[in-house]
Amino acid sequence: MLLTITTPLSPASDLGFLLHKHPDRVQAFDQAYGTAHVFYPEADERRCTAALLLDVDPVRLVRTRGRGTPDFSLGQFVNDRPYAASSLLASAMAQVFRTAMRGRCDARPDLAEAPIPLEIALPALPCRGGRGQAERFFRPLGWDVSAEPVPLDPEFPSWGDSRYVTLTLTGTVRLADALNQLYVLLPVLDDAKHYWVASDEVDKLVRAGEGWLATHPDRGPITRRYLANRRALVRAALGRLADAEGAPDDALDPVEIDEEPATDTADTGETGETGETGETAGSGDGAEAAAEERPLPLAERRIRAVADALREEDAGSVIDLGCGSGKLLARLLKDGAVARVAGADVSFRAVEHARRRLRLDRPGPSRHRERVGDLFQGALTYADDRFGGYDAAVLMEVVEHIDPPRLGAVEKVVFGHAAPRVVVVTTPNAEHNVRYEGLAPGAMRHPDHRFEWTRAEFRVWADRVAAAHGYRVRHVPVGDDDPEVGAPTQMGVFTR
Ligand code: SAH
Repeated sequence: MLLTITTPLSPASDLGFLLHKHPDRVQAFDQAYGTAHVFYPEADERRCTAALLLDVDPVRLVRTRGRGTPDFSLGQFVNDRPYAASSLLASAMAQVFRTAMRGRCDARPDLAEAPIPLEIALPALPCRGGRGQAERFFRPLGWDVSAEPVPLDPEFPSWGDSRYVTLTLTGTVRLADALNQLYVLLPVLDDAKHYWVASDEVDKLVRAGEGWLATHPDRGPITRRYLANRRALVRAALGRLADAEGAPDDALDPVEIDEEPATDTADTGETGETGETGETAGSGDGAEAAAEERPLPLAERRIRAVADALREEDAGSVIDLGCGSGKLLARLLKDGAVARVAGADVSFRAVEHARRRLRLDRPGPSRHRERVGDLFQGALTYADDRFGGYDAAVLMEVVEHIDPPRLGAVEKVVFGHAAPRVVVVTTPNAEHNVRYEGLAPGAMRHPDHRFEWTRAEFRVWADRVAAAHGYRVRHVPVGDDDPEVGAPTQMGVFTR
């Protein structure tokens, strides 16, 4: 089976750097069930193509991972695996292009971050649901999709088409994203895996889906197929995706913050706050029941908790440190309680995303342009005057992304240097992790988390930081406060 990646990028060596595979070499990587070869059929000034050719040995496949798995009980020796792009190819990609899939390229860091023109071709992709399915899954990711059905036998057109398509994707996409999308969607389109789906697949999916799956309109069907319909795992994965950066309900589109509150968000905006309705007798009315069925995503409850704390502390100006895609900022602007907001993030992509969300990327007047002070790239580990001058600073789900040896620097920068009157910090409560099905014992909620604190650990940290910099801190649980393990998120509100 064959996968080719073509780009008009020049020099050709750039694609080689991005893939960590030299264009002048033919390399072979031994796999459990065959051999993966990487080579460049063309590499000149105009075009460069890298090919991954997976040579599957059907006998080895049967003897190794294929043995005993549901897929192989019947067609053990006669099957399409040697030539069809499937989970075998996805596994080979994960091994051969591991560093590229993480988006790492020390030689060309800017290229690794940037969307680049790409053409990806797969001559034989098994596609349950036909060409339309491939189009549905890839199009929302920014690809032009051509999925040509492969006839069962060209000699006998009346036999019709096979379940395979020749897939060509064309688009301008970050290479790491493209590879991760293929890694997830190849087995999803095939709707089969050559190995048993265990709970660590949730982690793999969340990691590979970073930045695109949470906002994909078909994240439900994709997740279900990827996890072979194992309900507990599907629930766990969808929960974690909903909690991820760029969560479902506000996709990649900028939220409508120019308009008056849209009816749907205004509706849910009320349910969380009234509180009384739940206590009245006969609360089983339709609206309540619906709210019960679809609890607010944790990310939304966190935004509300932070906004409430800022309101309580009467913060007129707020800087969101590690603002991600700017969801909190958009909400603060929409609520209108805050006169001036700003945001910073170490990730350039995040800052761009936040600019789009707040419509700062467009020329012309914007209703709240003057209320957004600054939205900039900056690292919390280095003192920066731009962090100062606001009533409040928020670090929402940020500290757990900092390497422990750098945390002291962040404390000094935020509490010592910027030193706003109010600092709001939220972070996961590690004790609550046992309530997440599909999260392996001891595992963390997100692959980029450097640690996750218990409630006691967070208190020790918060109390020490507060004492060192002249703050008082109160602790607020966010999300359902489980009597045994506490709420999923913990929040500290520091005031000077
Ligand atoms: N506050 C947002 C995003 C949380 S994800 C939200 O709750 O939705 C963590 C964010 O912290 C990421 O956007 C990441 O880029 C940012 N981050 C991680 N380390 C950072 C650092 N040293 N300086 C600034 N931002 C950092």
